[in-house]
Amino acid sequence: MRKKIAAGNWKMNYDLAETEMFLVDLKKQVIPENVEVMIAPAHTNLHHAFTSLRDHPVTVIAQNMNQNESGAFTGEVSAKMLASVGVNTVIIGHSERRAYFNEDNAVLAEKVNTALENNMKVIFCIGEELEDRKNESHFELIETQITEGLFHISNEAWKQVVIAYEPVWAIGTGETASPQQAQEMHEFIRNTIADAYTKEVADGVSILYGGSVKPENAKEIFGQKDVDGGLVGGASMKVDSFMKIINSFS
Ligand code: PGA
Repeated sequence: MRKKIAAGNWKMNYDLAETEMFLVDLKKQVIPENVEVMIAPAHTNLHHAFTSLRDHPVTVIAQNMNQNESGAFTGEVSAKMLASVGVNTVIIGHSERRAYFNEDNAVLAEKVNTALENNMKVIFCIGEELEDRKNESHFELIETQITEGLFHISNEAWKQVVIAYEPVWAIGTGETASPQQAQEMHEFIRNTIADAYTKEVADGVSILYGGSVKPENAKEIFGQKDVDGGLVGGASMKVDSFMKIINSFS
């Protein structure tokens, strides 16, 4: 059985006080046992969130980290620093990192290695632009992203990796991939992993969908055979809507 996951990516939103307000409300909720729930606050609030949720089933994860272990990289945060504040999972390769911070597949592969070497779990994001879908190169692009970013890891390391398929045209736009489009791509991703590794490895990997997941569409998207949950931006920032999404798994 693959893990069901609902992960909230807060991006560059919520300061310390706002984070605390969310956490107070979150702690009043009942988290279903069959779902792994994660939130990714800004780096500055990770320690507070981790401490606040110490005995709580929701896990605090990071949105990014640097691929180097330490050194002269002004403004960057290392895997060891994240681990020291209780974080053991990191989102790598979000489309906003790829687009605005020039993170290419080669850098992302390095980040994956650094995370794995530091015993961290990885949520590795992939996704095509609208242009790629229009000219029907989306499958090829996704294959390249996972091949160059992930296919150097060992069979064993896949236990630490989750994939998030997030079509860029659906992120923050209110436009969602249809459940069929999501299923089609998730199945393609799983088959690509099976071809490069084994069916057993591929069947064990949780593949999340991301891009305008909301309470209204979560159930149908999560109901698809190869969709194991969601990476949620906007709708994860209110406890009410996030809980509805968390409770959308059947
Ligand atoms: P969204 O963002 O849910 O606001 O579209 C998803 C993401 O960027 O991970």
